Amino acid sequence: MRFGQWSKIKVSLIVQKYGGTSVGSIERIRAVATKAVAAHRAGHQVVVTVSAMSGETNRLVSLIEGVSDRYNKREYDVVVSAGEQISIGLLAIAINALGVKARSYLGWQVRFLTDSIHSKARIREIEGFRIREDLEKGHIVVIAGFQGVDEAGNITTLGRGGSDTSAVALAAALHADWCDIYTDVDGVYTSDPRIVTSARRLDRISYDEMLELASLGAKVLQTRSVELAKKYKVPLRVLSSLQEGGGTLLTEEDELMEKVIVSAITNSRDEAKITVLGVPDRPGVAATIFGALAEANINVDMIIQNISESGETDMTFTVPRGDYQHALETLAIPVKQIAAREIKGDPTIAKVSAVGVGMRSHAGVAQRMFKALAADGINIQMISTSEIKISVILAEKYMELAVRTLHDAFELDKDAGDRVIAR
Ligand code: ADP
Ligand code: ASP
Ligand code: MG
Repeated sequence: MRFGQWSKIKVSLIVQKYGGTSVGSIERIRAVATKAVAAHRAGHQVVVTVSAMSGETNRLVSLIEGVSDRYNKREYDVVVSAGEQISIGLLAIAINALGVKARSYLGWQVRFLTDSIHSKARIREIEGFRIREDLEKGHIVVIAGFQGVDEAGNITTLGRGGSDTSAVALAAALHADWCDIYTDVDGVYTSDPRIVTSARRLDRISYDEMLELASLGAKVLQTRSVELAKKYKVPLRVLSSLQEGGGTLLTEEDELMEKVIVSAITNSRDEAKITVLGVPDRPGVAATIFGALAEANINVDMIIQNISESGETDMTFTVPRGDYQHALETLAIPVKQIAAREIKGDPTIAKVSAVGVGMRSHAGVAQRMFKALAADGINIQMISTSEIKISVILAEKYMELAVRTLHDAFELDKDAGDRVIAR
């Protein structure tokens, strides 16, 4: 990502991001305006990024799907980016009503230049001279999250939850002193508090753990936003827009963090499983299957390959659930080409993961995880590990039970110092 001609502005600069629930009604928008104005009156330069009002992006997606299930992604971006136009305008009006100058901008106007991968574009550069001019004139600048424009002038969007990434990219570009992500929870928890009522808020979390959590389903931050925060060392906090509190700070890892073996359990319903049965055991078959998926822009996550004694291979892998049908269609010809016997799929799976930097230096985490799941009669279909996480694929209907079971097994409802497992 390149950042145009930015230089650090002397007074402190804060980027605030408010998610859908935080701007979900006129009252909430007024409350956001009050928070932004308070920061402005305290002497900060303030740039605010907002999402569409809650439920609006989903409504726009269902309108598209109502028209056709074979829609063009360019037009998808034209429609789904519309929600943010309303919330930025309303917020700027609400700030003006409090006596502070504010101007709202869409992505293309301040030029969030992206690549052309519609519906999951990546930011390449933020030009943003208008933002700087407005800040220097004492305005609060309100910017539509989630959207950008490609070289050819087409509107693009950054993937669901993409306003987080807009905010962090802006904070990096502006060399902001803080990037505050305001949402409907008061920080990052040991598990999704909607699933585990005893989940605890983490005061701090390392960029790497948050990266795993986000990519494994904790939608409190979009994965790409954490990647950018880590890369550009953006000081990032997750806070509640509804209540006061210190929130969760994303930081570099330290020794204290390493003492905690498992920091959080996370879950995702975003994947589907595909198995290609009876693949001939010869060079090039994996390249044919995964090459076809890559060409169709479908990301493959877990892959398991089993060679049976008969010399045939079964290949099982996961793809984003939204791409499931597309993946099956994409594979129809390659599967014939390599003379595989059959292709099967299951979109009703879920992924549950345990994440913690302490796993690097402690053994036995996987064993404890599998034992706890077995005790509840939960069957594990696939397993994948990295240095700081263990993920399992299981039937979707067991997902919430598995999350609660693992939260208990790793004693995450207790203070880190009081956990038997942590010592
Ligand atoms: P916003 O609309 O503000 O962007 P999101 O709905 O995208 O908010 O993200 C906030 C939600 O993330 C919370 O309401 C919570 O249910 C969910 N969530 C999932 N995992 C976690 C976690 N580990 N900590 C906090 N929130 C989580
Ligand atoms: N409004 C977009 C969405 O619902 C972007 C965001 O909320 O961050 O995905
Ligand atoms: Mg979000």
